[in-house]
Amino acid sequence: MKQPVTVLGLGAMGAALARAFLDAGHPTTIWNRTPGRAPELDQLGAVRADSVGQAVAASPLVVVCLLVDATVHQALDGVDVRGRTIVNLTNGTPEQARATAERFAGARYLDGGIMAVPEMIGGPAAFIFYSGPEAAFEEHRDALSALARPAYVGADPGLAALYDIALLSAMYGMFGGAEHALALITSERIPASAFTADFLLPWLTAMLGSLPQIADTLDNGAAPGAAGSNLAMQAAAYDNLIDAALAQGVDPMLLRPMGDLMKRAVAEGHGDEDSAVTVRLLSSAS
Ligand code: NDP
Repeated sequence: MKQPVTVLGLGAMGAALARAFLDAGHPTTIWNRTPGRAPELDQLGAVRADSVGQAVAASPLVVVCLLVDATVHQALDGVDVRGRTIVNLTNGTPEQARATAERFAGARYLDGGIMAVPEMIGGPAAFIFYSGPEAAFEEHRDALSALARPAYVGADPGLAALYDIALLSAMYGMFGGAEHALALITSERIPASAFTADFLLPWLTAMLGSLPQIADTLDNGAAPGAAGSNLAMQAAAYDNLIDAALAQGVDPMLLRPMGDLMKRAVAEGHGDEDSAVTVRLLSSAS
C-alpha cells in the first residue's frame, strides 16, 4: 500500500495536490476550514476529517497548503504534530519558513515552494522546491513526486522560499516589461495577439539566452573582452524608452528603476561591464 498522506487546505492549489495524491494511489485524508470544499475529492476516495487534529493524526506525512503563513499558525494552533512530517507548501518568506520550522520543532518540518499553477500539478512541467532535514525529504521523496518534480535545495528551511521568491521575482519583472511593451503597442491600436506571437515571445526567448553569461560572470568574474552590449551603451539608449513611453501616454513607472540602476553603475565606473554589475549593486543595497 502506498503511504497515507494528509492535505490541509482545499483551495485551488490544495485540492489539486490532494487530487494528485489520490491519482497516484495514496490513501488521502483531507481537511479544510470551510467544510465541503472540493466535493469532487470525495468521489475519488478522499477521507474527510472532521477536525484539523484528526487530519494530522491520520497520516505520517501532512501537506499544508493554506493562504499565507499566518493562516498556517492559526489552523494548527494547539494541534499535536509530534512524530509527523509537516510539508508546508503555503507561500511565504525565508524568515517565515525558519520561524515556522521552530514552531513545529516537535515534528520534522520541510518547507516548500510550488512552481506551478493548479492545472500543472501532477504534470511534467511542475516542480516544487523543498528545504529542511534531508532525511525527511528522502523518506517522503516518492510520495512528494506524485505532486511535481521535487527539487531539494538544502537543510536551511528558508531556502525553498528563497528559490521560490527568486523565481517569482524574475517572473514579475519579466511580465512588467512585457506589460509595458503591450501598453506601447496598444496605444496605437496595434493588435496585441499578433505582436505577442510574432515578436514579443521570440524576442524575450532570444534575450533570455544571455542569462547564463551573466550568471557565469557572477560565479567566475568577467571574461576579458566578453561584453558585446556594455552598460554605458544600454544606459545611453534608456532615456529613449522613457521619452517614447511618455509621448505615447504610457506610464514608465515599471521601467524607470532599471534605468536609474544602469546609470548608477555607469557613474560608478562600470560602463564597460555587462548586467552582472547591476546584480551586485542590488545585492549590496541592504
Ligand atoms: P485559495 O485562495 O484557493 O485557498 C486558500 C485556502 O486557505 C483555503 O483552503 C482556505 O480555506 C484556507 N484558509 C485561508 N485562511 C485560513 C485560516 N485562517 N485557517 C485555515 N484555513 C485558511 O488559494 P490557493 O489554494 O490557490 O493557494 C494556496 C497556497 O498555494 C498559497 O500560499 C499560494 O500562494 C500557493 N500557491 C498557489 C498557486 C496558484 O496558482 N493557485 C501557485 C503556487 C503557489 P477556506 O476554504 O475555509 O477559505
